[in-house]
Amino acid sequence: MRYISTRGQAPSLSFEDAMLTGLARDGGLYVPETWPQISHDEIAALAGKSYEDVAFAVMRPFVGDTFSDDEFRKIIKAAYGRFRHAARVPLVQIGSNEFLMELHHGPTLAFKDVAMQLIGQMFEVALARRGERVTIVGATSGDTGSAAIEAFRGLDAVDVFILFPHGRVSDVQRRQMTTPAEANVHALAVDGDFDECQARLKDMFNDFAFRDDVRLAGVNSINWARVLAQVVYYFTSAVALGAPHRKISFTVPTGNFGDIFAGYVAKRMGLPIDRLVVATNRNDILHRGLQSGVFAKEGVAPSISPSMDIQVSSNFERLLFDLYDREGSAVAQLMDDQSAKGSFTLSQGAAERLRAEFDSGRCDEAETSATIKRVYAETGEMICPHSAVGVKVAQDCRGDSVVPMVVLATAHAAKFPDAVEAATGTRPGLPPHMADLFDRAERQTRVANDLAALKAIVRERSRR
Ligand SMILES: *Cc1c(COP(=O)(O)O)cnc(C)c1O
Repeated sequence: MRYISTRGQAPSLSFEDAMLTGLARDGGLYVPETWPQISHDEIAALAGKSYEDVAFAVMRPFVGDTFSDDEFRKIIKAAYGRFRHAARVPLVQIGSNEFLMELHHGPTLAFKDVAMQLIGQMFEVALARRGERVTIVGATSGDTGSAAIEAFRGLDAVDVFILFPHGRVSDVQRRQMTTPAEANVHALAVDGDFDECQARLKDMFNDFAFRDDVRLAGVNSINWARVLAQVVYYFTSAVALGAPHRKISFTVPTGNFGDIFAGYVAKRMGLPIDRLVVATNRNDILHRGLQSGVFAKEGVAPSISPSMDIQVSSNFERLLFDLYDREGSAVAQLMDDQSAKGSFTLSQGAAERLRAEFDSGRCDEAETSATIKRVYAETGEMICPHSAVGVKVAQDCRGDSVVPMVVLATAHAAKFPDAVEAATGTRPGLPPHMADLFDRAERQTRVANDLAALKAIVRERSRR
């Protein structure tokens, strides 16, 4: 399997190179040349299998000869061994034909662990074989950074630097990034907001001399390997609920469009998905864009579901590539419009295809709180604000459909204790493996929102 850029101007790569590179040098994102197909019988044969076995079956065709079967099985086993639930990603029923897919049983309590734990293992094996090392730099609004640090801490071949907006992540999120003591972990508190952190990260990647010098690698949600890891749980949950013999729908709380794009990939591979519903908080550019075909950036408004406070959804570019019949020049044009004017408009054909694939809805702050409260009262389940956005939008979109609806529960309630306590009157407690988080020593470096200063720190501290 080869990987090609959504903008059509970068050389095609193997899975290994696409994974280690992240962003393509023409500014595009890597996607597989074709979508591998899984037949009805092959899906039926996944019933009753472990998460690890389904992961192997679903991801194998994408990985090509980067890993042997044996190597890949070991990587998967190591990646999910740190999940605290035997099912890894269990389903919980919260209503008639209404389910939560709990993605928060990994080490940092958010769904980012599902992909990041796998990537950590894949990087380690690939780099050891090549005798190389890399410097991973990532920007985070909170969850990606802690998941990356948890996945790469202590690994020989990797230094990991995480840029986070100083003062704008929750105490739990910050402590997960600043308390690991390993020398290869560097938490950088930047004087700026998340979009500025992400912009500095892009600047570093676009400085090719710097990029080559420190052997920069990216694990933000644009990394194809992350999307791939997320395709797996659409299969495990759909099969548990009766696929391929009946269709299943999914609602996905969305920021960077990574998680829901993974659902789209599952559907393209042949999983019988009925509806894919995009759920946004008050930062609703995706919902407005889906309805109107016009994707216009507004200012980011802070919300109680902060991991979705995003206006530029980087993974949406992968979908655009398909909507425009995989024509890189058309995607490049739309992305140029976005940079120059802060908006782009889909052709009528593309807008129609988009609406044929996805439904959407938005959930405001009061509705998010009310949903956390209602689900707790009705079921005893404490859900995080992001998951609540999904539950609310799923209900609005479902009507009286009898197709099972699965809402992706993207984080543990204890990661956002203030919002959950405000809604329910009860403060969610951290699980045992993290009970001493607030007693551990913190280590971080405060940095100006300045490219030269950031590059100097990365150069100085990475062990090349
Ligand atoms: C990252 C994140 C999201 C959004 O996921 P995308 O892949 O960016 O759409 C939603 N909820 C939580 C808790 C997250 O950490």
